Amino acid sequence: MFFSANDLLWLLLPLAAASGWLVARLEQKRRTRQSFDLPSAYFKGLNFLLNEQPDKAIEVFIRVLEVNSDTVETHLALGNLFRRRGEVERAIRIHQNLIARPTLDREQRSLALLELGQDYLKAGLLDRAENLFQELAEIRAHSEQALKLLLHIYQQEKEWEKAITVARKLARVSGRDMNSMIAHFYCELAELDYTHHNHASARERLKLALVADDKCVRASMLLGDIDAREGNYREAIGHWQRIEQQDIHYIGEVAERIAEGFRRMDNDQGLYDYFRVSLRRHGGVSLALTFADIINSREGAEAAEKFIVEWLRRAPNVHGLHKLLEINLVKAKDSARNDLLMLKGIIEELRTQHLGYACGECGFKGKSLHWLCPGCNHWNTIKPVREE
Ligand SMILES: [Zn+2]
Repeated sequence: MFFSANDLLWLLLPLAAASGWLVARLEQKRRTRQSFDLPSAYFKGLNFLLNEQPDKAIEVFIRVLEVNSDTVETHLALGNLFRRRGEVERAIRIHQNLIARPTLDREQRSLALLELGQDYLKAGLLDRAENLFQELAEIRAHSEQALKLLLHIYQQEKEWEKAITVARKLARVSGRDMNSMIAHFYCELAELDYTHHNHASARERLKLALVADDKCVRASMLLGDIDAREGNYREAIGHWQRIEQQDIHYIGEVAERIAEGFRRMDNDQGLYDYFRVSLRRHGGVSLALTFADIINSREGAEAAEKFIVEWLRRAPNVHGLHKLLEINLVKAKDSARNDLLMLKGIIEELRTQHLGYACGECGFKGKSLHWLCPGCNHWNTIKPVREE
């Protein structure tokens, strides 16, 4: 079989095409390698950043900037770095310069705005930060991040109405459940109303808090307080008792208030029955201690003592022991009294470790109940230690 010149040409054509393609590809590869030089320096800088060596990172980034100052990512990373180092003014300058460039695309511009907003936040220029985050939320660019930062600002500024609006938007955008937080914002507003003796408005807010989160203990507590202040003890007791279903850990916060409510209504039997039944339902230190006092004033010290001893057998605890000593001290004579006082002193020391409040999130400990943890800034994470 012989090939004609024509046949040969046809055979060689694909090969020629292929080799041309190969040359072109090699050329392209060489070129892309060249254009990757810049980002490789950028990644090197990033590496320094990740290894907590910001000084070396700055060096690298500045070198890159000299090569090509149009590198947006580098600008952003550098600005971020300056902000983290606390050099906020430099960060602001970098981000402002970036935004001023008309060549920026939409994504780059919104990213730079988000960074600039955080610079302002760190510099304490809250109004400017707020404006930028609002703009981002409106144009739906980085909305979730912008809304989170807005929420942070409004909480810091105690602008609770705005915080409620933003939290609702954030819930829609992120799919996160913000209801417990929203309920606290309503409670904050209600507390302000309450201190200004505007009970009607406070009640409205607290109802909205319970609509947002029907487990909001704080709203029930305050609704009870308002009713008690107005002499509506039956209603007050109703609100406080609801805490039993909302979160039993907090019942100790209102046990005394509930008892006082019954006493104000001269309803000794109601008082006794409620604590007897709810103690049987839940147990718990606070309910038992209050019930011991109720028995003491109703049936005398001996009956109260008997109740506490039985309780301590089932659940040994320092609070019960303390109460037992307290009751015994009243009837004790001179020398026995001194011994008991000494013992009570020791128990009291022990008891302080089991009093107060602690955050389940960060471990913060405090003597009073904070709804917003000062340690980790979470709502609703602090609970009474006594019930643990
Ligand atoms: Zn905490």
